[in-house]
Amino acid sequence: MIKKIFSFVRKSQRSSKDKITYIIPRSVICDTERVLSEYAKIKPSNEGFVYWGGIIDGTIISISLVIAPETESSYGRVSTSNRSNFDVVKTLSANKVIEIAQVHSHPSDLVDHSEGDDEWASFKIEGLVSIVVPQYCKKGMLPLTDCGIHIYTNGDFIRLSKKYVTEHFKIINDSKSGFIDLRRTFHVR
Ligand SMILES: [Zn+2]
Repeated sequence: MIKKIFSFVRKSQRSSKDKITYIIPRSVICDTERVLSEYAKIKPSNEGFVYWGGIIDGTIISISLVIAPETESSYGRVSTSNRSNFDVVKTLSANKVIEIAQVHSHPSDLVDHSEGDDEWASFKIEGLVSIVVPQYCKKGMLPLTDCGIHIYTNGDFIRLSKKYVTEHFKIINDSKSGFIDLRRTFHVR
């Protein structure tokens, strides 16, 4: 689903005045960084991928689950199969959460969506968040403003401004989250 990193689509950064707040437990950040780092340790480093599940309560969107799907990955590419996506949907349902975000890493500091990122995202639902982490997450994913955070709306991904990310994405220390690893093996090409 995430292919072709080499032709990037530079998009205008937009900032909206909506009241949506994303609540992200620090444990979600830690689990995500750990999985992306495992892909980074493959030689040569691979792009990694996770999903974030959570619940929406009015304008508060709370992340509570990190899912590491089965993927096929390589330098500059990571994708999930239909079977893998089915397993993710089952896992989300079993845990009574919905998909809030997909997170994947890029080799460089370029964190805009590639054309492939736009085209091949598996679950293009209104409001889906897509986070691109630079440098294979070798330096972690904080501050979030170093990542490219996109949102799917009106049939397209737009990149959120750093100002929007700062104001609307809150990392909290005192909340628990779950982690489910659906990777059976690493598929490296
Ligand atoms: Zn990408």
